[in-house]
Order: sequence, then structure tokens, then C-alpha cells
Amino acid sequence: MIGKTVVARPSPHPETWLQVRPEGLYCQPADLFIDPIRPVARAAITHGHADHARPGHEAVLTSAETLAIMQARFGPASVGGATTPHWHEPVTIGEVSVQLVPAGHILGSAQVVLTWRGTRVVISGDYKRSADPTCRPFEPVACDVFVTEATFGLPVFRHPPIAGEIATLLASVARQPERAHVVGVYALGKCQRVICELRRAGWDRPIFVHGALQSLCDLYQAHGVDLGPLLPATVAAKSAMAGAIVLAPPSAIADRWARRLPDPVVCLASGWMRVRQRAKQRGVERPLVISDHADWDELLTTIADIAPGEVWVTHGAEEALVHQLQSTGQQARALALIGRELEGS
Ligand SMILES: [Zn+2]
Ligand SMILES: [Zn+2]
Repeated sequence: MIGKTVVARPSPHPETWLQVRPEGLYCQPADLFIDPIRPVARAAITHGHADHARPGHEAVLTSAETLAIMQARFGPASVGGATTPHWHEPVTIGEVSVQLVPAGHILGSAQVVLTWRGTRVVISGDYKRSADPTCRPFEPVACDVFVTEATFGLPVFRHPPIAGEIATLLASVARQPERAHVVGVYALGKCQRVICELRRAGWDRPIFVHGALQSLCDLYQAHGVDLGPLLPATVAAKSAMAGAIVLAPPSAIADRWARRLPDPVVCLASGWMRVRQRAKQRGVERPLVISDHADWDELLTTIADIAPGEVWVTHGAEEALVHQLQSTGQQARALALIGRELEGS
């Protein structure tokens, strides 16, 4: 009998040092939670959306932009000691090297790269691959385990190019100059991206913004994202709003607030607008399929680009994506995280 040489694998499998705890995903050798939903001693935060960034952690590691967003949303005292490394700059916690790499989702959004004893895990947070003038593009990082979001992890979700959606909006404005177009946008990320894309398409008139959107627009401008002239929607006269584009939180577009506008055309910018029934339910006359998350094709392309040893799927339609990946021979499983609600999709 010929003996087989057994090579000991010195690198521990990531499932031995990363765990799902009630607070969130936990990296034991660094005593570090990633995007925990409860206050913890030490947290790495991928980005500022409320389902990832929470107040009350004792120490936070995040990008400088995300720290600014957290301080703006929760107050300066609500974020403990902060470490804000440059992109790609390794920070050592225990024996673990932690790096932030751009995720392309919103301003400051990062993937968290954890390297320990020769094994590397990348936690994507939320991400997308299509271009976005408000943030750095996603960078694929080779790894043993890629923890991916799956907000739009179903084949039905395919986001068209944003330029076409913006062109549809501007054509509607041109056709109905007597009406105001009120566009529902999430305050963090979607709002500023839609404004930038309107500017890119040549809309140089002032854009009216609901009061709830102003402070984050100011923050983006302070970080070098040029949004052009913005005016508060609440103080403008009704006559000034004919032919105008007004941005407001999704909760306000079908509300009494919007009825003060001249014969408003209700629009909503969201990846969920791919589902016509959702648009109808929300009283949306003109759905705009604009998302800051990877769509089905982008999820599959990204995982193929990275070619990780394993994929852990979280934050959305886990089963469909896991099934699709497994059918192509990619090792994949669902990472069960609890207590998460979606923001900014
Ligand atoms: Zn997000
Ligand atoms: Zn999210």
C-alpha cells in the first residue's frame, strides 16, 4: 500500500474564528463585531445606513466618511473612540489584520477585510458594481470566504443603467411643465446620487429638497461631492414649483406634504420598483429602478471575479443565491443574521 502524504493545514477555517452572535458577526481573535445591531466594546462599521451603523459602541473602526455620517445622524457623543484608517491601510487588532476597501455603495462605504493566520475573509457590507459619482468604486479582493449581501438576490432583479432612468424622468418633466415631479429617495446615498446623475444629464436648475434630506446633502458637499444649487422645498411658493424636480423621503411622497405641490407626479427611486405591484401599492405614478445594491447579475459577476473558496450569503434573498452558486460548483451557504431591516435599497 502506498502511503499518502498528509499535509497539515496550518490555517484555521474561518468558521472557527468568525461567529454569528445575537449582536452580529463576531471575529473572535480580534474581539471585533462587524456592523453589530447592539452596542458592543469594539465594532467595525461598513457604512452609515441604519441597519449597519448603530450608536453606542465603545470603539469604532470605520472610514472617515462613515464616521462623519454616524456623528451627523447620532450626535458626536454617540460614537465612542474612533479609528479611521485610510483605504487599504492595515490595522492590527490582536493578531488580526483589518483593512477597509471601497464597496461602491454610498459615500464612505467599505468592505471589511480580515486576515488571520493565513486565512482571509472579506465582509462586503452593501455594495454595487455600477458607477456612482458619489463614492469610490467596489474593489474585488481575493479571499477564502466572501460574505456577500443579497438584497436583490433573485433573478427578477436587474437594475437598468441609471442614465436611462434619469432620462425617463427628465422626459416626463419636459412633457408636463405645469406639474411638479416629486421623487422619493432615501436620505443617505440615493438622494445625492440621483442629484449627481440629474446634473450629469444636464439639469442645471435648482433642485428642491425636503428638509429631512438637507443635512446629508450638506455633508456630501463638505466631502467634495458637488450637488449644484439646492433649495428647500418647504419655503418655495407653489407657483415656483411648476416644472420643478423635488426630492423627498419615500414616506413623504404620497403624503399630505406632497399635495401642496402643483399636481405632483409621484416618482420613487428604488431597486424594488422593478416589481410593478410595489409601485402601485405605494401610489407611484413613475417608478425609477435605481438601486445602490448589486443586482442579480452583479452579485454573480462579483463572486466569479473574486472566486473565493466559499461564499456566505446574508442580508436578503439568501436561499436563491446560495442555490444558484451551488449549482455552478461554488461552495456557498446562508449566514443567518438576525434583527436586520433594510434601509436605502
Ligand atoms: Zn446600505
Ligand atoms: Zn444594508
